[in-house]
Amino acid sequence: MGRWGEHFFEGDHDLDEASYISEDAGIELYYYEPDKDDAKEPIGGKGLEITRGYLNGGVLSGLFEKYLREKDEKFFLGKELRLVLTAALAMRIGATIEPKYMDMLRTNYKKIRVAAKYSLPICDTGFRGPMKEQFETALTHYKNDGTPYDFFADRCKGPGCGKANGELKEGTLLRKCGKCKDASYCSKECQKAHWAKHKKLCQTPEQREAEEDARWTGSIRMLNV
Ligand SMILES: [Zn+2]
Ligand SMILES: [Zn+2]
Repeated sequence: MGRWGEHFFEGDHDLDEASYISEDAGIELYYYEPDKDDAKEPIGGKGLEITRGYLNGGVLSGLFEKYLREKDEKFFLGKELRLVLTAALAMRIGATIEPKYMDMLRTNYKKIRVAAKYSLPICDTGFRGPMKEQFETALTHYKNDGTPYDFFADRCKGPGCGKANGELKEGTLLRKCGKCKDASYCSKECQKAHWAKHKKLCQTPEQREAEEDARWTGSIRMLNV
């Protein structure tokens, strides 16, 4: 399968890691909602609250300690990415990350290299650009009070902003860039501050579609399976 997107858990490697981390935790962390087939699985989903309570009972800190102790060679995608993916799984369910581990994550994520957009699965280690941005935003916006963090929520693209709809002033909603109808902003200031970077990527939906088509029919598709 490979990679079908550049965000968290949009590639096989991330999902493999999620299953290794779940095994170490002793509970399913990615597919945490139980489904009817779970009875057959050794560590099937137990639901949001049970999973969160279980991690908060020392299991999450135990995982961070275990990975920090182990040698880097033990991790196919690198120790830092394992730590980050562990944190991402914890954030998705609103588990409590102790302040010292938040600090540890803030230092460690910076060591992860950003992989090229198209990589063979074997070289597809490290972050993708959008994934790194997702994590940076999560580091500043994760409430750490039991609220699950939605990595895919629409967020303001303003540099250092990253606010989602629920985090804006009463009666304010994010607004889309008029041209691409894709990038969201909480204010004119954020839109202006992001423009220098955004203008290179800002395309009308029609332009974007044409580019997608060209990509899928081109040989690049062969490289990204
Ligand atoms: Zn903003
Ligand atoms: Zn735009």
